[in-house]
Amino acid sequence: MSHNTPQPETTPAFPPHVHEYALAHRCTTCGAQPGQPCEAPRKQARVDFFNDVREKVGQPAMTPDPLQLMHVARVDAGNRHRDKDIAAAPWPEDRVPGRRYDTLGKA
Ligand SMILES: [Zn+2]
Repeated sequence: MSHNTPQPETTPAFPPHVHEYALAHRCTTCGAQPGQPCEAPRKQARVDFFNDVREKVGQPAMTPDPLQLMHVARVDAGNRHRDKDIAAAPWPEDRVPGRRYDTLGKA
């Protein structure tokens, strides 16, 4: 560990998880409202299937990446929103520490 490594910011300028952006959008595929998970029974069934198999062989269940349970159109909308926020924000060196520069929750 180098002493020159910069300390990570306590409050990130943007939400650390891309799925927070996806979740803030209504899903055009299944109609899930902002903040609600996608209605994706086949995606959920696949996760359940693998966790059943894991249970049978004595492995703990895995928590899936939230993005895996969302429809692609919604993830894309979230990514576009995030890209726009990052493009609109000041350069990292001009940002105020501890301030968020995302527009989530304001839309
Ligand atoms: Zn959906």
